[in-house]
Amino acid sequence: MNKIKIVIAGPRGKMGIEAVKMVQNNEQFQLEAVIDRKHNGKTLAEADSRFSHLPIPIFTNPDQCFATVKPDVLIDLTTPSACYQHAISALNYGVRPIIGTTGMSKAQLTAIEELANEKQIGCIIAPNFAIGAILMMKFSQMAAKFFQDIEIIEMHHDQKLDAPSGTAVKTAELISTERSLKTQGHPNEHENIPGARGADFEGMKIHSVRLPGLIAHQQVMFGAEGETLTIRHDSYNRNSFMTGVKLAIQAIINLDTYVYGLENIME
Ligand code: NAP
Repeated sequence: MNKIKIVIAGPRGKMGIEAVKMVQNNEQFQLEAVIDRKHNGKTLAEADSRFSHLPIPIFTNPDQCFATVKPDVLIDLTTPSACYQHAISALNYGVRPIIGTTGMSKAQLTAIEELANEKQIGCIIAPNFAIGAILMMKFSQMAAKFFQDIEIIEMHHDQKLDAPSGTAVKTAELISTERSLKTQGHPNEHENIPGARGADFEGMKIHSVRLPGLIAHQQVMFGAEGETLTIRHDSYNRNSFMTGVKLAIQAIINLDTYVYGLENIME
């Protein structure tokens, strides 16, 4: 069987480093090149001592990368603005994007979805690659049938750029498919410090905690008369996301549409 040819955007980042390792250690995958905003024309080995064993070419321009390397799959773990450019370029060159980067706008996601479906190229947007996190979202969606009052508390490291997290937004979206609409809290509640009650998503609340020491954690709290239910997931290291990245690579080869959320390829 031919190996799946892969390009990783953001290889020096915290997630990118893990993705490079995972791809390198998998016999089915072949890392062909990386996209980085620095070091165009060098190799990973020349640019970064952590990759001294990897003479993989670095491209800054995604068009040039895809035209030269012709990979099967792009894995993007960068920033929202860079990721959008990479995904559009990938689709224009017939390359299937797997997007782990979070924080793109609704308009950007819609543009990617329309282009992927128009060109009939598989595209996976995964706000969370951790299998346990997907289950946490699914269980929360199930519980939302029975509880209207819900607070989502997501906790991440303090270098995270977007808030709330993509996982929290995705959880709220899944919950809203089952939850009867309700504005939570006392009708006359007042924030003495703005933001104290968190962000509002259809009347339920999302709170974002940012602290050094954390990686990626979320708990969803459900409350009803005399009881609460808490569903919690913790990623203790970034390797926890790589099972999902691997799953996405294996699935995307047989996809010809846009998929938002890893849960849609897990079943
Ligand atoms: P990070 O450590 O800041 O890494 C981001 C990398 O992207 C950096 O190496 C950065 O380079 C690079 N970059 C920035 N602009 C670029 C461009 N134009 N072209 C190529 N590379 C560019 O962040 P991280 O923790 O790895 O997270 C990356 C993304 O993944 C974030 O959006 C995060 O929320 C998301 N994430 C997703 C999951 C998931 O399961 N889906 C899990 C964790 C994180 P410089 O260092 O030069 O700026």
